[in-house]
Amino acid sequence: MAWASLDDPLHDPVSDPVRLHSVRTALLDWFSANARDLPWRRDYSPYSVWIAESMLQQTQMQRGVAFYCRWMERFPNLASVAFASEESILRAWEGLGYYSRARNVHATAKILLENFGGEFPRDLMELEKLPGIGRYTARAICGIAFEETVACVDANVLRIVSRIFDVPYAVDSAKGRRLIETIATSLILKGQARATNQAMMEFGALVCGKDPLCSMCPLATLCLACARGTVLVRPVKKRTVRRETKTVACALFVFDKSLLVERRTGKRIWSGLLTLPEVDVPYGSTPKASLLSHLSAVLGVPLELGRFERSLRHAYTKWTITLWGIALTSPSLPSNLGPYTFLSLSDLYAAPLPSPHRKLIHAYQEAGADCVRWAHFFVDRLCRESVLSPKKL
Ligand code: SF4
Repeated sequence: MAWASLDDPLHDPVSDPVRLHSVRTALLDWFSANARDLPWRRDYSPYSVWIAESMLQQTQMQRGVAFYCRWMERFPNLASVAFASEESILRAWEGLGYYSRARNVHATAKILLENFGGEFPRDLMELEKLPGIGRYTARAICGIAFEETVACVDANVLRIVSRIFDVPYAVDSAKGRRLIETIATSLILKGQARATNQAMMEFGALVCGKDPLCSMCPLATLCLACARGTVLVRPVKKRTVRRETKTVACALFVFDKSLLVERRTGKRIWSGLLTLPEVDVPYGSTPKASLLSHLSAVLGVPLELGRFERSLRHAYTKWTITLWGIALTSPSLPSNLGPYTFLSLSDLYAAPLPSPHRKLIHAYQEAGADCVRWAHFFVDRLCRESVLSPKKL
């Protein structure tokens, strides 16, 4: 059924080839004139697309580009990832967070090398069986790298399709998601999957964002939400994520030029990384009291507060965490370290650490409190070689 008019509430967008053609042409024209020069757009290899898509989930573009370039210098191809140690993979991922993505990239590279001759399968179902490659990433590899006629529907595509076609269903419902995927796929002509997918994503990022630039939009005359005044209520969302908060205290405990750390294991956040000793601060307690009582009990030596404390915020999934870094000292070396270990400068520098913990170590050094000489060397190297600017730390 063709649309009778922009106000027809019973429209069927997929059956209106004229409108689909107009939207597709406008998007492709806009993209060819406005596409950003992003590093993975230089070769569009499956490896580049996969790494870019894995890194850009939950990451701002500018930051993702810096990490992508650094990663590609360190791991230029699939084999270099497969043969790397887990520690070097996590170290290169440091600062991006969500480290399960890095472990999945590592596991998938090994599987592809061992079972697929180092190539990505072209089949969506085969791709989705690989660790960390879900529906979206599989479609991105097929649609963008292999030019298969499939749509990769990320948050940008959800938003622009919801608005241009005024989709009234929640984008986090099966019905809404299915409809948007159908419309997005209908916009792709055979042999144009790469350009069309990239055009939709780029348009959502640069023009039809959370604050849409309707007054200068080249698709304004084709946009149903614009015509109906529903732009600000599209896309429709059913669920709202309730954020939770908690407070965590971390120890900066230096003894004999080494820092006390824990190697995380199991299914905990930051598993596989080295972290500062941490304890949750229960309601009614303070970070200092919680940390002193926890670590004194584990280490079995009297601990005292040092002259440094600093807090920072860290957002993780639904959590907003206030992290306190607190310096501790002790006149004697603990004989029982429990789950912890002391790491010297060289080991610590090369080790993967969560970015908020590295920031606390940096702040500790900058404050000059309880400072030890190794920290200067450690932080100098960190600032020179990390993509994190010291100003941002
Ligand atoms: S007119 Fe506004 S809402 Fe519609 S596509 Fe353009 S920017 Fe998005």
